[in-house]
Amino acid sequence: MRKPIIAGNWKMNKTLSEATAFISSILPLIKTDTHCDIIVAPPFICLDSVNQLINETNVSLAAQTISAKTEGAFTGEISISMIKSCGCDYVLLGHSEQRLYHNETSANCHKKCTLAFENKITPIYCIGETLNERESNQTLAVIETQLNEGLLSLPLNNHDIIIAYEPVWAIGTGKVATPKQAQEIHAFIRETLSKHLGEAIAQKTRIIYGGSVNPGNIESLLKQPDIDGSLVGGACLKTDSFVELIKKTSAITQ
Ligand code: PEP
Repeated sequence: MRKPIIAGNWKMNKTLSEATAFISSILPLIKTDTHCDIIVAPPFICLDSVNQLINETNVSLAAQTISAKTEGAFTGEISISMIKSCGCDYVLLGHSEQRLYHNETSANCHKKCTLAFENKITPIYCIGETLNERESNQTLAVIETQLNEGLLSLPLNNHDIIIAYEPVWAIGTGKVATPKQAQEIHAFIRETLSKHLGEAIAQKTRIIYGGSVNPGNIESLLKQPDIDGSLVGGACLKTDSFVELIKKTSAITQ
């Protein structure tokens, strides 16, 4: 059985003091929750301080992106070795907001995945269709292209990757995909992995759903056979809702 993941993407929220206060508030409430992998992705400036608080706990750290370059004259960029030095075990790649506002591409994510593997960091590769693409029946073609360009030629027999299916129309909109809609795409992603990389890789790879997940809708999503957890934005920012998402995941795994 694949271990579920609850990953909180803080986006551009929380100052340093807010970040440390938030982490300090959740740690005692979730310290015995080992039924799922718990990941937080704070802004870059909070990584080191959050890492010091979560060291030796059941919470892991992710960065929200990295540069495709390793070092040098790239003002404003953050490298893979920098996030590694702050204690990250994961990195989000290809988030739709990076694709939309920073021209992130699947091909570029492929390069970044390779850097992540070289540094023993697990990529969380985000893919998903826009509303226009869904309404014009292009969803499967878009997902297949994002998989093909971003990860299908990576050495996934030696490295793990997490795939986050996040329909763009569901992110931050309150319009969650129905469990049936999400399951259909997760199954398609797994089939595509199986076709290109073999059944063993398809079965071990965790595919998580993101897009307006909250404590009220997470259980019906996680009951789907190919949904292995969630990447959460808005509902991960408050102590109560983040903790509740983690507790509700436990009910599903029993
Ligand atoms: C996200 O940013 O990855 C996300 C899923 O956001 P939200 O939960 O707010 O839709």
